[in-house]
Amino acid sequence: MSVVSARPDSAPSTDGTSYQFNRAADLMGLDADVRRILAHAANESVVNFPVKMDDGHVEIFTGYRVQHNNVLGPYKGGLRFHPDVDLKHVRELAAWMTWKTAISDLPFGGAKGGIAIDPRQYSERELERITRRFTYALGDVIGPDHDIPAPDVNTNAQVMAWILDTYLSMVPPQQRMRSMHVVTGKPIGLGGCVGRDKATGQGVVISIENWARDRGFSLKDATYTVQGFGNVGSWTARLLAPYHARLLAVEDHTGAIMRERGLDPFELAGWVAEHGGVAGFPDADPIDHRTFLSTKADIFVPAALGGQITAETAPLLDVQLVAEAANGPTTHEGELVLAEKGISILPDVLCNSGGVIVSYLEWLQSKRSEAWDLDEVDGKLRRKITAAYERVRDTARTHGCDWRTAAYIVAFERLERVYMERGIFP
Ligand code: GLU
Repeated sequence: MSVVSARPDSAPSTDGTSYQFNRAADLMGLDADVRRILAHAANESVVNFPVKMDDGHVEIFTGYRVQHNNVLGPYKGGLRFHPDVDLKHVRELAAWMTWKTAISDLPFGGAKGGIAIDPRQYSERELERITRRFTYALGDVIGPDHDIPAPDVNTNAQVMAWILDTYLSMVPPQQRMRSMHVVTGKPIGLGGCVGRDKATGQGVVISIENWARDRGFSLKDATYTVQGFGNVGSWTARLLAPYHARLLAVEDHTGAIMRERGLDPFELAGWVAEHGGVAGFPDADPIDHRTFLSTKADIFVPAALGGQITAETAPLLDVQLVAEAANGPTTHEGELVLAEKGISILPDVLCNSGGVIVSYLEWLQSKRSEAWDLDEVDGKLRRKITAAYERVRDTARTHGCDWRTAAYIVAFERLERVYMERGIFP
């Protein structure tokens, strides 16, 4: 029941035809052959698999894994469980992982996958069976030194534990202990890395800190709003608390809330864990989507799904900085509006790279049977993401371009160098 196509030349990756891809490639003069290669995903897997539900009936699910590029190292990227998951979208997300790992100077390529499913409609036991059967259907599409999944939208350490256990059951016993790095974002007891849970949020905060330092902007008493209060949004808010920055408004799938004197991110995270969303949070005013987007603040952190900042919504934003914690929150049309308004953008492939950076640290530890402490992990994350920030900033200055284009140029330069050195087989 599995369809695996290698190098589908007739189906260029969405990102390969995007405005940003072309602008960055034109501006830096990317080699035409390398450009053609990067415009395509290397492999695309679509698997349809049956799972028995709690009431005994069988449902068929569709899962995806797109491996965009592995010239820098094994394919790497998350798995998301969401109704919007389809081949076109996963293809785009996989390409963004290639840019992200290249910008952070990690020895990884880019991939992405997921299942087209609304996980809220299923019991925990059903989700476990769906995850295990998906892993089984993927077979050797994934592997510890070949393609390494991680958490993404609606997946977490528990889902990674199920994937690990299923994968290990499929390899000969002698290879099991050598395969613990087949996923990252595992629970700590199973070889996970301390600090991986907060890593994406931590990277967002370090990126904001770097941006603020460069502009002589004080984060003390700065105001901000957050869209999405799952792992990334809530960790970003909790990690901004020590700076005494004020969280004015939050929006998620249950609604939007606002409190002028500031929402306590720790209390809100507790409320969301108990109630499934921000709606009804005590002592906060419910507001509508437009009011949320129009809230005047210093920083807006989109940490939900992609495509939120568009030609229609961007005019509403009244902030100095958009720190892209989500993948692809800003459409090209939305970005033009932000530029016109003089709003800075920390692009997703830089701003949210803390997750995959700490995934790399976890992967190394699992490979070597080591366990590092939080200081070591946090220190390495800070150095890596700050170096990436400086590369993007300096490239934007050199080319006189926006930061997203600069980020793509940083990635393309690294990928081009490696292709030139390795050549194309045969
Ligand atoms: N899903 C995360 C991302 O989009 C993390 C990927 C990973 O750790 O491999 O960057």
